[in-house]
Amino acid sequence: MRHQSVRTAYAYKWDPPDEVSRQNMHTLVTAATFLHGSCLTAAAGSRWDVLTFVPSTRRKLPIAQHPAAGLARSVFVEGEQPRRIVLSPGPRISEDKREILADRFCLPSEYQPHVAGRHVLVVDDTWTTGSKAQSAALTLRDAGASQVTVLCVVRWCRWDWPDHSRVLAGLDQPYDPFRCPVTGLGCPVANPLLA
Ligand SMILES: [Zn+2]
Repeated sequence: MRHQSVRTAYAYKWDPPDEVSRQNMHTLVTAATFLHGSCLTAAAGSRWDVLTFVPSTRRKLPIAQHPAAGLARSVFVEGEQPRRIVLSPGPRISEDKREILADRFCLPSEYQPHVAGRHVLVVDDTWTTGSKAQSAALTLRDAGASQVTVLCVVRWCRWDWPDHSRVLAGLDQPYDPFRCPVTGLGCPVANPLLA
């Protein structure tokens, strides 16, 4: 199962993508935001009203074709549509992967008025050290965002990293859409049978 998960996370980014992997990644985003949108809002204290994604550092694609841009389009939105903005690669996009840097990404000036005082949801495909998503969050906070929430689809884990082995050992069940991304437990909001 672990190896299959790794393949999914890579193969959705192939050019062209592996279609099953792409659909699985998109389904995970839709399930998390459709079933647990209110859990995310309750945990953050407010509903996000701006949506963006962490651009790939390796791809030279037009930004709208970045794999994570597609994931952001799979976010379930109820009611008023969020403002969609795009981060650009910044001057230190390729620096030491573990460092959290506000200028790893930059916010084009045309989007700045839409971020000030707003709650931004940042979608990312893979959490490895967390530095990419946290750098994006820092860029947005510096641009005046009142709050930033990160929704990450895959977490990269290794058995030989001490804090990961505990997480991996606890993953003894297959994927369950009713397990809450906020609490990590069966979610009575998403599934009233669990209440
Ligand atoms: Zn939930």
